[in-house]
Amino acid sequence: MNKGKLFVFTGPSGTGKGTILGQVLAQDERLRVSVSATTRPPREGEIHGTHYWFLTHEDFEARIAQDAFLEHACYVGNHYGTLEQPVNEELEKGNDVVLEIEVQGAMQIHQKRPDAVMVFVAPPSIEALSERLHGRGTESEDKIAARLAQAEEELRYKNHFDYVIINDILEDAVADLCAILRAERCRVSK
Ligand code: 5GP
Repeated sequence: MNKGKLFVFTGPSGTGKGTILGQVLAQDERLRVSVSATTRPPREGEIHGTHYWFLTHEDFEARIAQDAFLEHACYVGNHYGTLEQPVNEELEKGNDVVLEIEVQGAMQIHQKRPDAVMVFVAPPSIEALSERLHGRGTESEDKIAARLAQAEEELRYKNHFDYVIINDILEDAVADLCAILRAERCRVSK
């Protein structure tokens, strides 16, 4: 059986990555999302093992020391990382795996797994992003400011990616990601 493909889905916080991905996952049987580890405290409704593996700083550091992460990064004061073993297991089973991660982690994957398909999702504008982060209401004002500053930095990296999706109209963004998955599955590996 052929191994699955690895997809990286990156873009500033509040761009709608999670919403787009949720809709694509619901209609794509071969796609699995990797559950990341983080030291960020859970938001209301977030479940350990479903949304994230919520770890203490000590646990996270121990996994770094064990070389358990495919990539990891510090984002606005917290650590986030992709555990390598579950990703490899899904790929070996022939499933495609998508990582929903920020830019520094995406660049690490690009180095380590050059065959990974790199997709960047961008907001129509920084103003639209600010409105979404405020509307979501999950972060305090200073955290929103930090995420917006980080977003400007992240947008600088978008030309390092294979594909850029502008999330202006959600249905179009979902269709774009489905089209990318479909095209990549038809790609002849050289
Ligand atoms: P949030 O706190 O909003 O859940 O996530 C903050 C940022 O961290 C988002 O851009 C999200 O995609 C990213 N992120 C989530 N999991 C990982 C991961 O495993 N590695 C990296 N590098 N970033 C992650």
